[in-house]
Amino acid sequence: MRSINPTNGKHFKTFKNDDWNAVKEKIALSDKAWLHWKTTSFTVRSRLLKNVATVLLKRKTSLAQLMAIEMGKPLKEGVAEIEKCAWVCMYYAQNGAAFLADEPVVTDAALSYVSYQPIGTVLAVMPWNFPFWQVFRFIAPSIFAGNCGLLKHASNVPGCAVAIEMAMLDAGFPKGVFQNLMVGSHLVDKIIAQPSIKAVTLTGSTEAGQAVAAKAGSLIKKTVLELGGSDPYLILSDANLEEAASICANSRLINNGQSCIAAKRFIVEKNVAAKFTQLLKQNMQAKVMGDPMDPATDLGPMSRIDLRDQLHKQVKENIKKGAKLILGGELPEDHTNNAFYPPTILSHVTPGMSAYSEEIFGPVATIIRAKDSEDAIRIANDTSFGLGAAIFTSNTKKGNKIAREQLQAGACFVNSLVKSDPRLPFGGIKMSGYGRELGLHGIHEFVNIKTVYVA
Ligand code: NDP
Repeated sequence: MRSINPTNGKHFKTFKNDDWNAVKEKIALSDKAWLHWKTTSFTVRSRLLKNVATVLLKRKTSLAQLMAIEMGKPLKEGVAEIEKCAWVCMYYAQNGAAFLADEPVVTDAALSYVSYQPIGTVLAVMPWNFPFWQVFRFIAPSIFAGNCGLLKHASNVPGCAVAIEMAMLDAGFPKGVFQNLMVGSHLVDKIIAQPSIKAVTLTGSTEAGQAVAAKAGSLIKKTVLELGGSDPYLILSDANLEEAASICANSRLINNGQSCIAAKRFIVEKNVAAKFTQLLKQNMQAKVMGDPMDPATDLGPMSRIDLRDQLHKQVKENIKKGAKLILGGELPEDHTNNAFYPPTILSHVTPGMSAYSEEIFGPVATIIRAKDSEDAIRIANDTSFGLGAAIFTSNTKKGNKIAREQLQAGACFVNSLVKSDPRLPFGGIKMSGYGRELGLHGIHEFVNIKTVYVA
């Protein structure tokens, strides 16, 4: 497993892969650790989660540097990511016990209630885009619930995977409660088939989700899938366009556009489309692209050269099909040994172009014109994805109604960018996946919701 710095294409570090024997040993250790871990009190689990929050905060600068080196995230975003990981750990440390308390239900029994019991070892297949956050939003609820965790991280962020395991051990979690498997995706099926693996959570592409869910499904093992999105942002004609454009630019460019809940399609009522496009352009071109290690940088390189090249191909294909290039769209002069790609805007995107229907995972904004708000809602739902969506309007009552009733997505925000928050459930519908992470609903995914009835 090799870390390649996307800023300069240089090899940073090599990690030894786990062979199948090593994987089996780790699974056995997880089994053994679980026998004890499931008996620990909420107080103990809470203390350890608070410890790991402290460890993360102490290391936030070095962990942000590691992300910058392995996948190009600018330092300030990396520090914010680690702070959010500490937050989710504190959130479940403080609320987990209440979420998992027995719930009495009145029936004809002398005593009947629902109890939330741990299920064993859960496998987490995770992506590189938020290499710490994606993992901690699994760890905090699942480990608090009394499960053990095995991580199969993306192959381009092995250093982050090791750093997470180390943070957990340094916080005092018993050996085996959380371990990193240094393996490529070819071993995932075989790992899922091990009897000790009780469930799988995956964040990543639809294709990876389909493969993992097919295998787990064949063995009747539960999955939670958090896949891609093509999040629509509706700009209605009564919106505050200056504010909307600034929020939309930030949402599109967060993590260099490599976020499942980044704004992907801006669906704008046609009478404000020209003005919005101009404002979005101003906001996007004001972002500073450069070395992610420089604190002034807003946009680093993309995480891998192959993903940048794929993105550029998508941009060129859309232009060929009639999309108008408003900003960017050109590879930097010296691009062979780095993964930089400039903020780009494609307007006049129409059905039949990939920017209309597919996920664009990079700093490329797509503008689609709508006749009116009804048309905008229709276009927003005209996708196989259903992760997040946002509406910008000065009529918040109307925005709320559209969010609640008309947009097909797991999360709809009004006059705000879509963001994850430990307190709110997070997940998608349609091809964006199923199941929920975070909040009360997230901690109930990987537990046995047990009915107890005493006559
Ligand atoms: P992948 O979905 O391929 O990678 C995510 C994780 O899944 C990695 O750990 C990867 O392992 C693993 N994986 C991949 N294929 C399989 C498989 N068949 N069986 C089991 N595990 C598998 O993402 P990519 O890095 O290739 O990115 C491609 C696209 O995926 C992006 O352009 C974007 O559209 C989407 N994506 C969405 C993310 C999200 O947050 N929802 C995050 C990342 C990507 P390994 O690295 O070893 O291959």
